[in-house]
Amino acid sequence: MDADASSFANAVLAWYNRWGRHDLPWKRQDAYRVWLSEIMLQQTQVSTVTPYYLNFIRRFPDVVRLADASIDEVLQHWQGLGYYARARNLHKAAVIIRDQHGGEFPQEFDAVEALPGIGRSTAGAILSFAFGQTWPILDGNVKRVLARCFRVPGWYAQSATMKQLWYLAESVTPQQHTAEFNQAMMDIGSMLCVKSKPKCEICPLKAMCASYRHHSQAEFPHKKPARTRPHKSTLMLLHRCGDQVLLWRRPPSGIWGGLWSLPEVDEVRAIELWQQSFLSLAQAPGAIQRDVIRHQFSHYSLDISLAVIELDALPSKIFDADNYAWVHVDDLDNHGLPTPVRKILSMLKD
Ligand code: SF4
Repeated sequence: MDADASSFANAVLAWYNRWGRHDLPWKRQDAYRVWLSEIMLQQTQVSTVTPYYLNFIRRFPDVVRLADASIDEVLQHWQGLGYYARARNLHKAAVIIRDQHGGEFPQEFDAVEALPGIGRSTAGAILSFAFGQTWPILDGNVKRVLARCFRVPGWYAQSATMKQLWYLAESVTPQQHTAEFNQAMMDIGSMLCVKSKPKCEICPLKAMCASYRHHSQAEFPHKKPARTRPHKSTLMLLHRCGDQVLLWRRPPSGIWGGLWSLPEVDEVRAIELWQQSFLSLAQAPGAIQRDVIRHQFSHYSLDISLAVIELDALPSKIFDADNYAWVHVDDLDNHGLPTPVRKILSMLKD
């Protein structure tokens, strides 16, 4: 290793005492709040998370109240944050904590890591922040700092690279003040060792950073060879009857799992069959609006086309009534909707 572990930790801790973020709303909180903030912060910036976090905590102030809530309500409070599997796992884990741990967040690493949606790094973060235990972390920001400091080859999907990064994280994490050290590493990653143009001149690790010494910050971490992001397309059906629209609850797993959305078909000629099967309705679809919205997922982009079907009267029955509902437009805010669907529905209101 290029840097001596204790001078690494001392430099990080000294920087944290002076410059680290001590004012985040989830600081010095119980394990439930630390856990919630760690899950919300995955793939999402602090500035985006803060209002969601405060709103979520107001409605679900402890783990038992989260476990007792319906998944629909949890998803509704998550809508707009994306990566909805996080909310579903949070709810599942809350139920396990209520039923198997007496409503108390577990303090043993294996029990924490066994909860849905919690990996090694998140378990380490929760145990160090909430209980002062000594565990390393390796979130996206920390990975970048370590990959640059120690010029770690390869990219994160490669197991040899991850093995080396975990080894380094374990080596530099101090036994004392682990929480402050972990928070500082996240802060250095998000405030100084940013993806492009890292602020090396004011970084506490400058003296021991191999990338800085070799002027190779831009090379690390190595990028995965680029792949073009595939396009997919779907056709959504908007059945509207006066102020009511027909919503469909998506299956619990997969994209937007458990959220309310619009029914979908693959192609225009499938619309009539869909209507006959689900609404016993023989009505021609209206005009198709092509590619109303392009939504970017991490692995592909989705072009959404829309068929608006105006009805004079509500159909007398719906096949699979548990997962379809006529919803008044004023009541849409009480349903967890994926962002592009919410945008489509709000465009129609204008
Ligand atoms: S010196 Fe620069 S590249 Fe190295 S850890 Fe600090 S900010 Fe990152």
